[in-house]
Amino acid sequence: MARHTAEFGFELRTCRWAERAWPPDAASDDHAIVVARQLGTKRRRWDTIVLECNLEALRERANFGPERLDGNLLHVVQNAPAEWTYYRDCLPHPSYPWRYVREAIHEADDRGILETRKNGNRIEIRRKWPYPDWLERIVAIENKPDLDASAARALGSQLEYDVAMGLADEVWVATRETGDAVEPALFERLPVEAGILTLEPDALTAAVEWFPRALAVDDPGTRILERPEGGKRDGSAARFEYVDLAVKAEKRLAIAERAYERGWRSFVDTMRPDCRHFELRAADDSQLRPHCADKGRCQTAAECSGGCPAFEPEPPVWRTRGWPIEGGPGKRCRQLLEDRRRRRRPGL
Ligand code: SF4
Repeated sequence: MARHTAEFGFELRTCRWAERAWPPDAASDDHAIVVARQLGTKRRRWDTIVLECNLEALRERANFGPERLDGNLLHVVQNAPAEWTYYRDCLPHPSYPWRYVREAIHEADDRGILETRKNGNRIEIRRKWPYPDWLERIVAIENKPDLDASAARALGSQLEYDVAMGLADEVWVATRETGDAVEPALFERLPVEAGILTLEPDALTAAVEWFPRALAVDDPGTRILERPEGGKRDGSAARFEYVDLAVKAEKRLAIAERAYERGWRSFVDTMRPDCRHFELRAADDSQLRPHCADKGRCQTAAECSGGCPAFEPEPPVWRTRGWPIEGGPGKRCRQLLEDRRRRRRPGL
């Protein structure tokens, strides 16, 4: 199986394992977590993200709906007062024009998460609920089922970036369990701050080979912009910049909001469930994974797109035979995954 194909399937298994078993060293299962995949910042995207949440606050977050709140909406709902107030008197001055704040107020009103009224020509606002402090920790996991030396080299510099930035509280590498007395991943040159997890994707069991160190999320971050190759003739210095604590906090919450909206079953959103070859197959009693009947295996999101040479639309007759409302198996697949995503958001 091609490497990227194996990695995609492995990544989905890691997400499912995390949903069932995170955190790996927990004595009880009294934890609220949200798992998502392929999220991060403009410069760095993580394979799997686990949000450790305060359960009560996560329930309260559901008041604001399943969709993410972007930076402008957060600015409004986090600062909206309990009593009617002219918006400019209660919201801190934004770093952008006030008209964007007014747009966000109208959007929040349309979404039913803020109360607004006109007083003369002034817009007054009042909160419906306080925005809860639901996010406790962000854990990033990189999936490398076959962690050889070259994969470790590429991953090593990305993990060094994470360690210097301190945007996630922890970073891990998940690799396939080999069964050797000492897992080979431990011999690879990875930053000591990164944890190593070996996963057996079929049985969905995992073991911690190396515990990570907590990263400095409460300190300003260092963003590595450029690093010299370090050869004999390369005497150039690395370039980096500092990242303010407030900027980091904002980014963390923005990532968490996107993770809350998307979860990890959203892989179907970028695939073609309306193709006649698209199937969902159960990997265990509860995980549905994509399967391409034409390829005879789990296809990647990149393969399963409009450009796929084997794409064939599901025949119109499928939509009328028993699925007049749902609109065919493609729609049903989406609905199934969507239901499971919602079930993972308490209070929704
Ligand atoms: S044939 Fe192509 S588009 Fe259809 S399910 Fe397979 S990978 Fe996806």
